[in-house]
Amino acid sequence: MEKKLQIDKRVLVGLLITLGILVIFLLVYFFFIPRFRLSNFSSKVTIPLEAEFAFNDGDVCYGTFFHCEKVEATRSGEVDTSKLGSYTVFYNYEYESKTFLKEQIVEVVDTESPVILVSGDEPLTYCANHKGYGYEVTAQDNYDGDLTEKIISSVVGDQLIFEVEDSSGNKATLSKRAILKDDIAPSITLNGEENVFIPLNGTYVEANASATDMCDGDLTTNITVEGVVDTSVAGEYQLVYKVVDSNQNEASVTRHVYVYESSDYPSLEGKNIYLTFDDGPSAYTSKLLDILKKYNVKATFFVTDQGLTKGYDDVLKRAYDEGHTIALHSSSHNYGYIYSSVNAYFDDLSAIQAKVERITGAKSTIVRFPGGSSNTISKNYDAGCHIMSKLTKAVQAKGFRYFDWNVDSKDAGGAKTAGEVASNVINSLGNQHTYVVLQHDIKEYSVDAVETIIQFGISHGYTFQPLKMDSPRVEHSVNN
Ligand code: ZN
Repeated sequence: MEKKLQIDKRVLVGLLITLGILVIFLLVYFFFIPRFRLSNFSSKVTIPLEAEFAFNDGDVCYGTFFHCEKVEATRSGEVDTSKLGSYTVFYNYEYESKTFLKEQIVEVVDTESPVILVSGDEPLTYCANHKGYGYEVTAQDNYDGDLTEKIISSVVGDQLIFEVEDSSGNKATLSKRAILKDDIAPSITLNGEENVFIPLNGTYVEANASATDMCDGDLTTNITVEGVVDTSVAGEYQLVYKVVDSNQNEASVTRHVYVYESSDYPSLEGKNIYLTFDDGPSAYTSKLLDILKKYNVKATFFVTDQGLTKGYDDVLKRAYDEGHTIALHSSSHNYGYIYSSVNAYFDDLSAIQAKVERITGAKSTIVRFPGGSSNTISKNYDAGCHIMSKLTKAVQAKGFRYFDWNVDSKDAGGAKTAGEVASNVINSLGNQHTYVVLQHDIKEYSVDAVETIIQFGISHGYTFQPLKMDSPRVEHSVNN
């Protein structure tokens, strides 16, 4: 017992001494060793978007418990309050070459909800599938900007509810009174042309149509087609494309298909158009031949041998090979020469006749006088000998036949665009049997009018024919 007590005493003394040293050390540490002391400082702060950020360096002093001197911080780091995010700023305190660094996290946050705006009178309208229409809804957010695309709408009871959330999770909700209603027909559009022209026994390729509906979306696959096209029988066919939406609203559109006969057949209705082109061939004649070929239309070319026709012999040959009538206009197209005497006229006519024969191998005897048989310009050159009266008789005596025109496209004066040329021709057509149309294939805009004229002709019961020696005579009255 005695021995044990002695050991305990020694341990106790040791502990007391250690404790004493510790207390002295702590006293010295807390009260006598100088150091930085920081208070009123937050290591993490949160500020709203666009608010002004102010550094807050707390209260810092340097010294012992008995005497502590205030120390100002040097601040560094930036906070952009126009952008959401986490920023770090630093406060550096210095006192007699001793430094003390504190870090502060600044969170810039968005707490403002987006704003939803609906323009349209209540009750708003919506489809059976709850898709709303007839109003405009937009959402704007202070930070994300336009959030219209992110609006989610739903129908609850008699309300249309719009909800949107910004990138920071702030939500907005708006309710409007609404009713279910769909009385708007789908919209249906033809693919391809509204008027389709196909030669007899040609192939009709169905181009179909497309349809969309405000409520049902794409309804193209629901389209039904009524009508058939029989390309073995000439005539006009109608194809009616119909579509019905989920609320029984209907829409339809019609295509006209014209199956036309070759020019070689007489018109069933007896209405014939003779397209004639003077003064070529030219740089535009190939394009014209392509159009005529597309519709299997045969026309008549009153050709010349003027400067601008040089180099187009192959085009003239092509026109002949494709079944068009190559007729004679004038070699020189020089009024002063050709109308100076009967001999001069026939010299010139023989020259163009020889040229045509050289190129096509066939002798042409169909003629058109420059200026037409009714021209009065010839009076300027014929020394009062009534040259047109003589020539109109002479050409027939020599086995020629001349043709004037009864439809003037005015492409040689007045009409300056394809549209004007086409409407001048179309507006001149009626229910007569014979229309001889005057155009010039040296004018590109006149060539560009031909397809419209042909389409109109085909769709209005006309047949296109080339002039032949026995074609109906269209002759002006002679004025000289
Ligand atoms: Zn001419």
